[in-house]
Amino acid sequence: MTTESSLRADIVEVGRRMYARGYTASNDGNISVRLGADRLLMTPKSVCKGFMTPDMMCVTDLEGRKLQGDRDPSSETLMHLEVYRQRPDVQAVVHAHPPTATGFAVAGIPLDRAVLAEVLTTLGSIPIAEYATPSTAELPDAVRRYIKAHDGMLLANHGALTVGTDLFGAYYKMETIEHFAKISLVARLLGRENLISREEVLRLQELRGSYGIKAPAPICLDDNAPPAAGGDDPASCQVVQAPIGGGLRLVPEATGAPRPTGGPAGDEAEIRLTYRELSALIEDAVRNLR
Ligand SMILES: [Zn+2]
Repeated sequence: MTTESSLRADIVEVGRRMYARGYTASNDGNISVRLGADRLLMTPKSVCKGFMTPDMMCVTDLEGRKLQGDRDPSSETLMHLEVYRQRPDVQAVVHAHPPTATGFAVAGIPLDRAVLAEVLTTLGSIPIAEYATPSTAELPDAVRRYIKAHDGMLLANHGALTVGTDLFGAYYKMETIEHFAKISLVARLLGRENLISREEVLRLQELRGSYGIKAPAPICLDDNAPPAAGGDDPASCQVVQAPIGGGLRLVPEATGAPRPTGGPAGDEAEIRLTYRELSALIEDAVRNLR
């Protein structure tokens, strides 16, 4: 059984890792865990997450009222409370400002393309919750739209939020988001981002069951997704952008066929270009004509 003292020690360790990896600067970020049915253990406001001690933590009720602790709970307590309210399965919440993922959040670019198998099987996609003033009730409102279907999200012009059935699970999702953001950035800087096909995405989704991954919602492909973005309805699935056909098969068929080594995408494969990439290609072609 998890004791309160070991949970306090775990929060200290996760805070230390977040700070060491540059996911937070100064006093940024906050961490909480459930402490029984009606209490939470929460990091205090205005402390550096890299140098916390177990005695610094606050115990609050599910309304955010402090029950125990010398310090006041995190200024983002309202956001944590909303997550626990919406997701009875969640035991821990982690919020940080990892720079590459936060860069995507600032640019308004969600991490929702089918690029990495491990991200598709775990987080599915990582949407962006609309901008809200930190520490106000706007932030829980923005998070509410995505939290039922997602274990991780970007917060526009702010940072990232992850949840889990235990504290380290929530923290590792933060690592996955930042890692995914770095890889996506490098691929886009290199000028090419080959997407995994939608057939493969659906196959990976089936693997969730065999690996015992409990995703909060199924993956839905971009063109059959419900209209979540822009509306007020909560997201009900994890919207992933994946092209039809083509792409490399990463998972062998269940018949035990050998894993293909892959090859170039077929002639019918769909590729996606941004307007900037398309313009660059056209400019190149025109230049070569001269
Ligand atoms: Zn923050």
